[in-house]
Amino acid sequence: MSHARAAVHRAARVAPAFAALSGARRAELLGRIADALDARADELVAVAGQETDLPEARLRGELARTTAQLRKFGAVVTEGAYLEATVDHADPGDTPPRPDLRRMLRPIGPVAVFAASNFPFAFSVAGGDTASALAVGCPVIVKTHPGHPGTSAFTATLVAAALAEGGAPDGVFQTVEGFEEGLELVDADELEAVAFTGSLRGGRALLDRCTARERPIPFYGELGSLNPVVVTPDADAARGAALAAGLAGSFQLGDGQFCTKPGLVLVPEGSALEAALPDSVVAGEPRMLTPAIADGYASGRDRAAAIPGVEVLAGGGGATAPTVLAADAATLLAHRELLDEVFGPVTVLVRYRDAAALQEVLETLEGSLTMTLHAEPEEDVTGLADWMAGRAGRVLFGGWPTGVAVSWAQHHGGPWPATNTVFTSVGATAVRRFLRPVAYQDAPASALPEALHDDNPLGIPRRVDGVYVLPATPAG
Ligand code: NAP
Repeated sequence: MSHARAAVHRAARVAPAFAALSGARRAELLGRIADALDARADELVAVAGQETDLPEARLRGELARTTAQLRKFGAVVTEGAYLEATVDHADPGDTPPRPDLRRMLRPIGPVAVFAASNFPFAFSVAGGDTASALAVGCPVIVKTHPGHPGTSAFTATLVAAALAEGGAPDGVFQTVEGFEEGLELVDADELEAVAFTGSLRGGRALLDRCTARERPIPFYGELGSLNPVVVTPDADAARGAALAAGLAGSFQLGDGQFCTKPGLVLVPEGSALEAALPDSVVAGEPRMLTPAIADGYASGRDRAAAIPGVEVLAGGGGATAPTVLAADAATLLAHRELLDEVFGPVTVLVRYRDAAALQEVLETLEGSLTMTLHAEPEEDVTGLADWMAGRAGRVLFGGWPTGVAVSWAQHHGGPWPATNTVFTSVGATAVRRFLRPVAYQDAPASALPEALHDDNPLGIPRRVDGVYVLPATPAG
């Protein structure tokens, strides 16, 4: 049996014991992991710095975000609303007559997490996918990313030790390495779901593999995203140069290796933003996270630059040099390949003449993680905002899409190809991916989970006979 299949088998054996732990108990375990990572922050940051070339300040910030995220998921499962506990007492007078029905969410079992290349902490071994699965009681097997093997191994050692010291069942957290082991993991009989952050191509292959299994399982992929930005003529006239500075900071942040990088910016013809942007483009050739990402960047950018009608406004010289491309709306409409995501420090300005031309371009866009609107306060943006909400997981008014807060209301998802699901991979509701609803009909009290007992012994928010009820004494 492959290492991956053995790991899944081991995880499946301990899944019921892990699921049986209370939310507060699992929160305590997540807190232990966070404490262990914080205690070794200097060493973790040093290893990650050597492997990824990411600056120390960025890595420190990312590690702090990662440990805060672990604690936040602990708070989510301690509070308990995530269980969606719902009690409908029997009502023979209802139409049709109603039996006693009680519904809640339960952990699905072992989850595979494919770590991302571009966040060695926050979307890797102890990142959001791992934290949200462990939080709700699902064992995790991480397929580590080859872009930061030392960081992955070090993090995994700390996570495993923290869980062991906290008394977690042995086998709730494991890792596997290598492409083939990743495939074995997805194919393992007892696996219940896969969470993934990476390329559209790799994600699509794994999605198809999950579906082709004898027993298909859900695949939660965070894939490609263009993150379009619309700048209205009024906003450009009022603050075009400031918008250029903001855009330059956002598309070059982390050398453009963010899933939320603004890759397409729709500007009015003759914009002040376009005039000012080249001055903010950083010279030089950054080292990208992996050789494959560097190659993908150079070839994707050069392919876009070679489209007839596309101009190189700034950069573009070296293989990994930050670059600004520009084209008219007509060029984009004739060459839809200009909409292909290029991972790295490039953004494409597309000039529109009037509202009709802007709308025509907007209609060509696929789903994205984010869409951003820069308009003036007195403009009526209702129609544009509504259109954006139909195609993006997060709609920003002002600001820039890079930087994803971890909070109760966050949504980091969106229509295909941003994701293949309706769920988020960041924020409190990321846990929903690893839960399955069950309704209990006319169950004796002894057969019901505590979350559904009449006296609400867990002290969690619940809907009882249609009314949302907050506990007198909240859990925690
Ligand atoms: P990737 O190539 O999709 O790889 C991600 C993970 O999936 C790795 O563990 C990889 O294994 C595995 N994998 C890839 N293709 C597979 C396949 N056909 N079958 C089974 N496993 C497969 O992503 P990456 O290495 O992080 O970066 C490459 C590109 O992904 C970037 O240029 C960018 O376009 C995109 N990306 C997107 C995001 C996002 O947030 N949406 C984040 C990072 C990267 P091995 O590495 O072992 O081959």
